Amino acid sequence: MILDFDVLIVGAGMAGMTAAIYLKRANINVAIIEKTAPGGQINQTNNIENYPGFNKIDGPTLAFNVFNQIQSLGVSYKYGNVLSIKSYEDYKIVTTDKGEYKCRGVIIATGRKPKELGLENEKNLINNGISWCALCDAPLYKERDVMVVGNSKYSIEEALMLSDICSSVTLVYEGKIDEKLKENIILKEKGKIVKLNSRENKLESVDVETNGTVENIKTSGLFIIIGNSPASEMLNGLSINVNDGYVVVDENMRTNIKGIYACGDIIKKEVYQVSTAVGEGAKAAMSYIKDFN
Ligand SMILES: Cc1cc2nc3c(=O)[nH]c(=O)nc-3n(C[C@H](O)[C@H](O)[C@H](O)COP(=O)(O)OP(=O)(O)OC[C@H]3O[C@@H](n4cnc5c(N)ncnc54)[C@H](O)[C@@H]3O)c2cc1C
Repeated sequence: MILDFDVLIVGAGMAGMTAAIYLKRANINVAIIEKTAPGGQINQTNNIENYPGFNKIDGPTLAFNVFNQIQSLGVSYKYGNVLSIKSYEDYKIVTTDKGEYKCRGVIIATGRKPKELGLENEKNLINNGISWCALCDAPLYKERDVMVVGNSKYSIEEALMLSDICSSVTLVYEGKIDEKLKENIILKEKGKIVKLNSRENKLESVDVETNGTVENIKTSGLFIIIGNSPASEMLNGLSINVNDGYVVVDENMRTNIKGIYACGDIIKKEVYQVSTAVGEGAKAAMSYIKDFN
């Protein structure tokens, strides 16, 4: 059987690129395919302060370093959007907008995207006042006034985390909250963000509508915690186990389909971070090596 590659990794985020390093170093014929730029989500942050080995590093630099590493190892890098994956007894067919690849194994590392409010100017203000992750970005707003929007236990958790470090946190919550929150959390129940206001491309204030009244609230940061969507569209038609769109794997990143593995933010798990994505990338690669070599 003629294969294009032994393994095709879908997604060149930190999980996928780590899997590529492990496979290539084991002399496996591996390619990685990416539809945008290598690095994935970390390209959206200027400040990573919890990845071992760096007190502080910006996401694009970390992505560039890992990309250089896979290039110097000679990993085949393809540009393309994966549209579907088909699994046959001895091989897989990965269809992209640029053509098809035949391979023995596939590692799905397509990550996820935070949901957006869909307001004008929102995309421009990402990293200029808009964030999706208190764990990642709270220290950037130390002793400043911030806002959280969301309607889940996660948005309350994010507000509580921010309240330890920020002067005040306005929590815009669509429903009602019964529990008592901290004193520096200002609650806007039944609230809805209707406009983002900026100056020199930095978020300056937010218009919040509550019971038909619009209030302009000054804020240095807005944390949008309205959920994430897994990038799993290409899995439609494949009988792979998913939960809420996230791929279900065992502890070694095997899916229910022989020869298909998943790692990083696309999998169902508790902690969505660079350090976990990297560890899972290594595990997915090692599982392929165990299963096929
Ligand atoms: C703003 C922000 C700040 C963050 N800060 C931190 C931090 O400080 N510390 C930390 O540990 N974590 C942080 N995170 C989380 C961290 O970035 C992620 O957990 C991690 O990068 C996930 O890596 P991944 O490789 O699993 O997925 P991703 O980074 O999402 O990469 C997936 C890749 O797959 C590609 N892809 C998707 N679909 C397809 C397709 N159909 N065909 C081809 N390619 C496809 C995407 O384009 C993307 O490049 C942050 C996240 C964000 C958004």
